[in-house]
Amino acid sequence: MANLSLRHICKTYSGNIDTIKDFNLEIKDKEFIVFVGPSGCGKSTVLRMIAGLEEITGGELYIENQLVNEVTPKDRDIAMVFQNYALYPHMTVYDNMAFGLKMRKVQKSQIDEKVKSAAKTLDIYDLLKRKPKELSGGQRQRVAMGRAIVRNPKVFLMDEPLSNLDAKLRVQMRTEISKLHKKLQTTFIYVTHDQTEAMTLGTRIVVIKDGIIQQVDTPQEIYNHPKNVFVAGFIGSPQMNFINSKLEHVNGKLAVLFEGEQIILQDDMSNVLEKKGYVGKNIIIGIRPENIRIPEEITRNECLVEFNVDLTELMGAESYIYLSKGESNIIARVEGIVDFKSGDKVKLALDSSKIHIFDVDTQLTVL
Ligand code: ADP
Ligand code: MG
Repeated sequence: MANLSLRHICKTYSGNIDTIKDFNLEIKDKEFIVFVGPSGCGKSTVLRMIAGLEEITGGELYIENQLVNEVTPKDRDIAMVFQNYALYPHMTVYDNMAFGLKMRKVQKSQIDEKVKSAAKTLDIYDLLKRKPKELSGGQRQRVAMGRAIVRNPKVFLMDEPLSNLDAKLRVQMRTEISKLHKKLQTTFIYVTHDQTEAMTLGTRIVVIKDGIIQQVDTPQEIYNHPKNVFVAGFIGSPQMNFINSKLEHVNGKLAVLFEGEQIILQDDMSNVLEKKGYVGKNIIIGIRPENIRIPEEITRNECLVEFNVDLTELMGAESYIYLSKGESNIIARVEGIVDFKSGDKVKLALDSSKIHIFDVDTQLTVL
């Protein structure tokens, strides 16, 4: 159990530009924090600095209100689970899990108790006598977690622990990790490049790009109120559609204009945009694929827009429709099976209350 405080943390690898820039984050006890961002954005670097495996170039790291910049990894009371498991191939599951405790000269009876209890928690009790090569990928991953659990750490760090597993197992292990967090009541910090993992696991998500935090929020807040174009595009699948547009008055109402179409905005949105001086200006609008609908009837907030159908993908319970309109390519995600053919012209309903509006220059959310 621990809270962490990262204050103005920076990292520069020798000869490189700044990899991590002014990273500030307060992590509460028992939180499940997920670092998410594209490959190379610096997620592992931050995690390794927390673990003490990488020197902190600048700033302060506190664990339980204690400054730990100069504290060695073994004295930080942190356990880390890596992507490649890093199990000892010649040792049994039992010995792999016991190893860290033996090195710390923990009593044999105590080690036995901890290993067996962790093995039960992770459902690998029957595998304790096996060697890693006699295990499936998912089982090896559990052993790697078991090795971390037995140490009873204050903080659990996980660096893409599921990325070596196949898709089905990944989903299964995701739920297991969630349950484990509830059971252990410990602070978890989890790194992934996969937005679905971030959305489903995190109590809060930290979206990172080029070593800079873009947004820290709950999954719902990040999804509903992304702060900029990057976050909006990174979280959500298929990703949010972006359309270059212009804001103009049409018959006394403020509307978004693009490719000869118009979406009339709600009064509350219009008021903010007018106040901020966006009338007559170019903007980027964002609309999520799930907020585009095949209309049977039009509800109050919706506008009809005609698109060209390029392709449809039938996913079973839902369909993805790939559409175009002039320069813009757009995806709609609708329930059920659709029978559009490529080349069809379709009128779809866009929910204007679900539109995101971004500044062209700053890429920041306007509303
Ligand atoms: P992520 O985990 O988000 O994929 P990393 O933290 O591994 O990203 O890397 C962030 C950046 O730092 C990358 O550009 C990477 O090449 C660089 N980097 C990582 N480790 C080192 C190192 N030991 N020496 C120099 N550069 C490194
Ligand atoms: Mg990494």
